[in-house]
Amino acid sequence: MKVWKGKLFVVSAPSGAGKTSLCNRLLEEEERISYSISYTTRQPRHDEEHGRDYFFINVEEFESMIEDGEFIEWAKVHNNYYGTRKKTVEEYLADGRDVLLDIDPQGARQLRKKLGYGVYIFITAPSIAELEKRLRNRRTEPEEIMKLRLDNARKELKLFGEYDYIILNQDFDEAYRCLSSVYLAEHLKTIDINSIHDLMEKEEQ
Ligand code: 5GP
Repeated sequence: MKVWKGKLFVVSAPSGAGKTSLCNRLLEEEERISYSISYTTRQPRHDEEHGRDYFFINVEEFESMIEDGEFIEWAKVHNNYYGTRKKTVEEYLADGRDVLLDIDPQGARQLRKKLGYGVYIFITAPSIAELEKRLRNRRTEPEEIMKLRLDNARKELKLFGEYDYIILNQDFDEAYRCLSSVYLAEHLKTIDINSIHDLMEKEEQ
Protein backbone atom coordinates (compact mmCIF):
# COMPACT_ATOMS: atom_id res chain seq x y z
CA MET A 1 0.00 0.00 0.00
CA LYS A 2 1.41 3.37 -0.99
CA VAL A 3 -0.63 5.68 1.19
CA TRP A 4 -0.41 4.85 4.82
CA LYS A 5 -1.66 6.92 7.70
CA GLY A 6 -0.76 5.80 11.21
CA LYS A 7 -3.74 4.70 13.29
CA LEU A 8 -4.37 4.23 16.97
CA PHE A 9 -5.61 0.79 18.00
CA VAL A 10 -6.93 0.52 21.54
CA VAL A 11 -7.44 -2.98 22.92
CA SER A 12 -9.11 -3.84 26.24
CA ALA A 13 -9.95 -7.18 27.78
CA PRO A 14 -10.66 -8.66 31.19
CA SER A 15 -7.75 -10.58 32.75
CA GLY A 16 -7.48 -14.05 31.26
CA ALA A 17 -9.02 -13.22 27.86
CA GLY A 18 -5.75 -13.92 26.03
CA LYS A 19 -5.27 -10.33 24.91
CA THR A 20 -1.50 -10.23 25.38
CA SER A 21 -0.86 -13.25 23.12
CA LEU A 22 -3.17 -11.86 20.43
CA CYS A 23 -1.52 -8.42 20.57
CA ASN A 24 1.97 -9.97 20.48
CA ARG A 25 1.12 -11.90 17.34
CA LEU A 26 -0.22 -8.77 15.65
CA LEU A 27 2.98 -6.92 16.59
CA GLU A 28 5.10 -9.77 15.20
CA GLU A 29 3.22 -9.92 11.91
CA GLU A 30 2.52 -6.27 11.18
CA GLU A 31 5.71 -4.29 11.09
CA ARG A 32 3.97 -0.92 10.91
CA ILE A 33 2.59 -1.19 14.44
CA SER A 34 4.44 -0.01 17.51
CA TYR A 35 3.39 -0.95 20.99
CA SER A 36 3.10 1.85 23.50
CA ILE A 37 4.69 0.57 26.71
CA SER A 38 2.65 1.73 29.68
CA TYR A 39 3.82 2.96 33.06
CA THR A 40 2.60 1.15 36.16
CA THR A 41 3.05 1.01 39.91
CA ARG A 42 2.27 -2.74 39.92
CA GLN A 43 5.11 -5.08 40.91
CA PRO A 44 6.72 -6.88 37.95
CA ARG A 45 5.84 -10.58 37.52
CA HIS A 46 8.77 -13.00 37.39
CA ASP A 47 8.91 -13.03 33.58
CA GLU A 48 8.39 -9.30 33.04
CA GLU A 49 11.06 -6.78 32.15
CA HIS A 50 11.25 -3.05 32.82
CA GLY A 51 11.09 -1.22 29.48
CA ARG A 52 9.68 -4.22 27.60
CA ASP A 53 6.41 -5.09 29.33
CA TYR A 54 5.98 -1.92 31.36
CA PHE A 55 7.96 0.89 32.87
CA PHE A 56 7.68 -0.10 36.52
CA ILE A 57 7.74 3.01 38.68
CA ASN A 58 6.69 3.90 42.22
CA VAL A 59 3.56 5.78 43.30
CA GLU A 60 5.47 9.02 43.88
CA GLU A 61 6.96 8.94 40.38
CA PHE A 62 3.58 8.10 38.86
CA GLU A 63 1.80 10.92 40.68
CA SER A 64 4.43 13.41 39.61
CA MET A 65 3.97 12.31 35.97
CA ILE A 66 0.21 12.92 36.41
CA GLU A 67 0.90 16.40 37.75
CA ASP A 68 3.24 17.18 34.87
CA GLY A 69 0.52 16.19 32.38
CA GLU A 70 2.67 13.43 30.88
CA PHE A 71 -0.17 10.93 30.47
CA ILE A 72 -2.65 10.93 27.61
CA GLU A 73 -4.77 8.73 29.90
CA TRP A 74 -4.28 6.97 33.21
CA ALA A 75 -6.37 4.91 35.60
CA LYS A 76 -6.28 2.94 38.82
CA VAL A 77 -6.82 -0.71 37.91
CA HIS A 78 -6.85 -3.59 40.44
CA ASN A 79 -5.43 -1.12 43.03
CA ASN A 80 -2.44 -0.01 40.95
CA TYR A 81 -1.83 2.95 38.70
CA TYR A 82 -1.44 2.43 34.94
CA GLY A 83 -0.87 5.14 32.33
CA THR A 84 0.04 5.85 28.71
CA ARG A 85 2.69 8.46 27.99
CA LYS A 86 1.34 11.13 25.66
CA LYS A 87 4.66 11.79 23.92
CA THR A 88 5.13 8.13 22.95
CA VAL A 89 1.78 7.98 21.16
CA GLU A 90 2.21 11.37 19.49
CA GLU A 91 5.68 10.55 18.21
CA TYR A 92 4.67 7.21 16.66
CA LEU A 93 1.62 8.70 14.95
CA ALA A 94 3.63 11.67 13.65
CA ASP A 95 6.02 9.13 12.14
CA GLY A 96 3.14 7.49 10.25
CA ARG A 97 3.25 4.40 12.43
CA ASP A 98 0.26 2.58 13.90
CA VAL A 99 0.13 2.47 17.67
CA LEU A 100 -1.26 -0.35 19.77
CA LEU A 101 -2.45 0.39 23.29
CA ASP A 102 -3.39 -2.33 25.75
CA ILE A 103 -5.41 -0.44 28.34
CA ASP A 104 -8.43 -0.93 30.60
CA PRO A 105 -11.96 0.35 29.81
CA GLN A 106 -11.58 3.45 32.03
CA GLY A 107 -8.55 4.50 29.95
CA ALA A 108 -10.23 3.62 26.65
CA ARG A 109 -13.23 5.76 27.59
CA GLN A 110 -10.96 8.73 28.44
CA LEU A 111 -9.14 8.42 25.12
CA ARG A 112 -12.25 8.21 22.99
CA LYS A 113 -13.61 11.34 24.68
CA LYS A 114 -10.33 13.24 24.54
CA LEU A 115 -9.12 12.29 21.06
CA GLY A 116 -12.30 11.52 19.15
CA TYR A 117 -10.39 9.04 17.00
CA GLY A 118 -8.93 5.56 17.33
CA VAL A 119 -10.13 2.01 16.75
CA TYR A 120 -11.51 0.45 19.92
CA ILE A 121 -11.43 -3.34 20.23
CA PHE A 122 -12.76 -5.46 23.10
CA ILE A 123 -11.51 -9.00 23.55
CA THR A 124 -13.09 -11.58 25.82
CA ALA A 125 -13.06 -15.30 26.58
CA PRO A 126 -16.27 -17.26 25.86
CA SER A 127 -17.35 -17.34 29.54
CA ILE A 128 -16.52 -16.16 33.06
CA ALA A 129 -15.66 -19.77 33.97
CA GLU A 130 -13.12 -19.84 31.14
CA LEU A 131 -11.61 -16.51 32.26
CA GLU A 132 -11.25 -17.93 35.76
CA LYS A 133 -9.67 -21.12 34.45
CA ARG A 134 -7.14 -19.22 32.34
CA LEU A 135 -6.32 -16.85 35.18
CA ARG A 136 -5.75 -19.78 37.55
CA ASN A 137 -3.61 -21.64 35.03
CA ARG A 138 -1.42 -18.57 34.66
CA ARG A 139 -0.54 -18.78 38.37
CA THR A 140 0.83 -15.24 38.35
CA GLU A 141 -1.44 -13.78 41.02
CA PRO A 142 -2.20 -14.63 44.65
CA GLU A 143 -5.77 -15.75 45.44
CA GLU A 144 -7.09 -12.37 46.68
CA ILE A 145 -5.74 -10.51 43.61
CA MET A 146 -7.27 -13.16 41.36
CA LYS A 147 -10.66 -12.62 43.05
CA LEU A 148 -10.32 -8.87 42.55
CA ARG A 149 -9.45 -9.38 38.87
CA LEU A 150 -12.47 -11.64 38.38
CA ASP A 151 -14.79 -9.15 40.07
CA ASN A 152 -13.42 -6.44 37.82
CA ALA A 153 -13.81 -8.72 34.79
CA ARG A 154 -17.56 -8.97 35.49
CA LYS A 155 -17.81 -5.17 35.60
CA GLU A 156 -15.61 -4.67 32.51
CA LEU A 157 -17.69 -7.09 30.42
CA LYS A 158 -20.68 -4.76 30.74
CA LEU A 159 -18.73 -2.06 28.90
CA PHE A 160 -18.24 -3.95 25.63
CA GLY A 161 -20.78 -1.63 23.90
CA GLU A 162 -18.34 1.29 24.16
CA TYR A 163 -16.03 -0.44 21.66
CA ASP A 164 -16.12 -0.59 17.86
CA TYR A 165 -15.32 -4.31 17.64
CA ILE A 166 -15.64 -7.35 19.86
CA ILE A 167 -13.55 -10.49 19.52
CA LEU A 168 -14.49 -13.71 21.30
CA ASN A 169 -11.33 -15.62 22.01
CA GLN A 170 -12.48 -19.23 22.03
CA ASP A 171 -9.92 -20.49 19.57
CA PHE A 172 -6.64 -18.54 19.32
CA ASP A 173 -6.17 -18.77 15.53
CA GLU A 174 -9.75 -17.78 14.85
CA ALA A 175 -9.54 -14.85 17.30
CA TYR A 176 -6.29 -13.75 15.65
CA ARG A 177 -7.93 -13.90 12.22
CA CYS A 178 -10.60 -11.52 13.56
CA LEU A 179 -8.04 -9.13 15.02
CA SER A 180 -5.96 -9.05 11.89
CA SER A 181 -9.09 -8.54 9.73
CA VAL A 182 -10.07 -5.53 11.81
CA TYR A 183 -6.56 -4.15 11.40
CA LEU A 184 -6.61 -4.62 7.64
CA ALA A 185 -10.14 -3.29 7.15
CA GLU A 186 -9.38 -0.16 9.16
CA HIS A 187 -6.62 0.67 6.70
CA LEU A 188 -8.97 0.34 3.73
CA LYS A 189 -11.25 3.17 4.81
CA THR A 190 -11.76 5.77 2.11
CA ILE A 191 -11.97 8.51 4.73
CA ASP A 192 -8.23 8.13 5.32
CA ILE A 193 -7.25 8.53 1.67
CA ASN A 194 -6.48 12.16 0.88
CA SER A 195 -6.16 11.76 -2.85
CA ILE A 196 -7.08 8.94 -5.20
CA HIS A 197 -4.12 10.00 -7.36
CA ASP A 198 -1.69 9.30 -4.55
CA LEU A 199 -3.18 5.84 -4.25
CA MET A 200 -3.38 4.92 -7.95
CA GLU A 201 -0.70 4.82 -10.62
CA LYS A 202 -0.37 8.14 -12.44
CA GLU A 203 -1.79 8.11 -15.97
CA GLU A 204 0.82 7.85 -18.70
CA GLN A 205 1.34 11.13 -20.59
P1 5GP B 1 -1.89 -6.32 34.02
O1 5GP B 1 -1.58 -5.99 35.44
O2 5GP B 1 -2.61 -7.63 33.89
O3 5GP B 1 -0.68 -6.22 33.14
O4 5GP B 1 -2.91 -5.21 33.49
C1 5GP B 1 -4.07 -4.93 34.22
C2 5GP B 1 -4.97 -4.03 33.42
O5 5GP B 1 -4.37 -2.76 33.23
C3 5GP B 1 -5.29 -4.56 32.02
O6 5GP B 1 -6.68 -4.36 31.80
C4 5GP B 1 -4.49 -3.65 31.11
O7 5GP B 1 -5.10 -3.50 29.85
C5 5GP B 1 -4.54 -2.36 31.90
N1 5GP B 1 -3.49 -1.41 31.50
C6 5GP B 1 -2.22 -1.65 31.13
N2 5GP B 1 -1.59 -0.52 30.80
C7 5GP B 1 -2.50 0.48 30.94
C8 5GP B 1 -2.47 1.89 30.74
O8 5GP B 1 -1.47 2.49 30.35
N3 5GP B 1 -3.62 2.58 31.01
C9 5GP B 1 -4.76 1.97 31.47
N4 5GP B 1 -5.83 2.74 31.68
N5 5GP B 1 -4.82 0.64 31.66
C10 5GP B 1 -3.71 -0.09 31.41
